[in-house]
Amino acid sequence: MAEPVVDISELTRSFGTKTALSSVSLSIARGTVHGLVGANGAGKTTLIKHILGLLRAESGSVRIFGLDPVTHPVGVLSRIGYLSEENDIPGWMRIDELMRYSRAFYPAWDDRYAAELQQAFTLDPATKVLNLSKGQKARAGLLIGLAHRPELLVLDEPSSGLDPIVRRDILGAVLRTIADEGRTVLFSSHLLEEVEQVADHVTMIRQGKIMLSAPLATIKASHYSLSVRFAESQRAPQLVAGVLRWDGTGVEWTAVCRDDTDGVRSAIAGWGAHIVGERASTLDEIFVAHVGTSATPPPDA
Ligand code: ATP
Repeated sequence: MAEPVVDISELTRSFGTKTALSSVSLSIARGTVHGLVGANGAGKTTLIKHILGLLRAESGSVRIFGLDPVTHPVGVLSRIGYLSEENDIPGWMRIDELMRYSRAFYPAWDDRYAAELQQAFTLDPATKVLNLSKGQKARAGLLIGLAHRPELLVLDEPSSGLDPIVRRDILGAVLRTIADEGRTVLFSSHLLEEVEQVADHVTMIRQGKIMLSAPLATIKASHYSLSVRFAESQRAPQLVAGVLRWDGTGVEWTAVCRDDTDGVRSAIAGWGAHIVGERASTLDEIFVAHVGTSATPPPDA
């Protein structure tokens, strides 16, 4: 087996009395797109900061390309492209200045590729960053993160505030290309639909703990949703083995189930209820079933 690009073992981190990460172990294979999903405050950014060497492991270990990012910052960071949630690129710079400024940090900066990205992202070189829309600013951030052809691209909530077209066209295409070239992507998100479209592997995190981490295909294949009609109104159907969660009211309920559902089916039949529909669970349903809450904050949050 090739050495994983990211290899985190038993990482724990607290801020005062708050445990932000608790015994987190995570391995990310080269050439994969890895989606890190969690609600606000779950610990995603804290984990990413450890990967970038911006925080030192309190206990446990972090190895990126086999190196400790705290003691080998240059060796690690020169091989990483990073786009933060805040996307804090200097507003006074023009796009062409930003490209010249950024290339100085990266020996592997590829001028031709940078120019290609600038055209593909329709970024006018003469425009100042502060005059860019949020979507254009995100494209500029991606350009900077990508133009040195990083082995590992780390995106912290790359889509927050972006319209769906920018998300689908830019993010989807870029992430797929990177993985196809044998490079690796880690991106955090609370948009499960987006994760479902681009990730190869998904890690769900809640309150600093990993609840589920597996290839997307495995997760999808091992969960399904049953629509159940009861003879009488239910307050909360029984959580028999195999059912992770019930959602519904009255006589109409949906069970999110894991693995073999034979036991669930016979329990349902035993209650005199009927299965009226069966389908693959969405990643959103699976997340809620494992984590207990939705990853997406309410609109006014
Ligand atoms: P979001 O989606 O809101 O960005 P997140 O999953 O990235 O959330 P983190 O930013 O990693 O979550 O925060 C995890 C927990 O650690 C939160 O409870 C947060 O308040 C706390 N935390 C993070 N950084 C600090 C800090 N520097 N000082 C104190 N508490 C912190």
